[in-house]
Amino acid sequence: MGLLLKIFIPLLGLALALYFYSAPENFNEEMLRGKRVIVTGASSGIGEQVAYHLARMEAHLLLTARTEAKLQKVVERCLELGAASARYVSGSMEDTTFPAVVVREAENTWGGLDMLILNHIGYSYFNYFNGDVGQVRKLLETNFLSYVAMTVSALPMLKESEGSIVVVSSVAGKIGSPFAASYSATKFALEGFFSSLRHEFIIDKVNVSITLCILGYINTENAVQAISHVIRSTPAPKEECALEIIRSGALRQRELHYPAGAVGSLLLLRNIAPDLLDSFIRSNYEVENIRRT
Ligand code: NAP
Repeated sequence: MGLLLKIFIPLLGLALALYFYSAPENFNEEMLRGKRVIVTGASSGIGEQVAYHLARMEAHLLLTARTEAKLQKVVERCLELGAASARYVSGSMEDTTFPAVVVREAENTWGGLDMLILNHIGYSYFNYFNGDVGQVRKLLETNFLSYVAMTVSALPMLKESEGSIVVVSSVAGKIGSPFAASYSATKFALEGFFSSLRHEFIIDKVNVSITLCILGYINTENAVQAISHVIRSTPAPKEECALEIIRSGALRQRELHYPAGAVGSLLLLRNIAPDLLDSFIRSNYEVENIRRT
């Protein structure tokens, strides 16, 4: 069984990768020139890389996260790279009033908004679920409810510009995996909310696109530090991931699967052989490296 999985999964991945990468491309970086974009979680990791790509594409940027010193540096770099403008608002998405503060800053500065990239996540431990319901509640506030609140505040401007919402999620928001129960719950919630909202936009003829980004393991500092000792796979590059996020949002795609082959094959297996998939997922973990706390 193990050998079968080891051969079957890469082959399936390869077939899907070929399919996705041979799909017609009509993305042009000029699509982002002069666009007004909010990026959350932009002080590090994927969000930081998204900001740098958008800066090269000459977009107007409003970046947010908690750490002011890091945001300052990212803004400086964005201006060097050619951003049409770049500024930041620092604060925590645990604070229920903060999402509206960020959107108000965009409204006061630009008077409109073209793209909302929701990317931030709060800290979650990578271990056996410890039974702490309060921690799950807090993570739901940061990883899910603040995404809803940002969307609600930004929607009038996005309707006006016929803009886009890009929601950064994870394979863990489609498929359960061990040691990330709270994180996974918040990501599943995103799919439920934003997929329902997409239907309503279509029914109501609201021309605002919603792109859900389903990411596999990406080589950001925090992710590598948290899980590299347990996960056997190699992470994909954050720079390419960030570009794919922007591309899928600009093309108003329903979903991004990145890396395409790995994520696509996991999702296909989930539908046709869920038990096989679960055993593959468990076999990809070095469980002996998890220390019970
Ligand atoms: P990261 O490097 O840990 O960055 C997280 C960002 O969120 C930082 O800018 C952080 O800045 C900010 N943040 C943390 N707590 C916050 C709070 N309470 N309020 C506001 N901002 C807060 O994460 P990443 O690896 O780039 O992940 C980015 C996105 O990709 C997430 O949605 C994640 O779920 C998704 N994803 C990542 C991977 C992966 O392997 N890396 C895989 C699947 C999905 P401050 O600390 O300054 O606030």
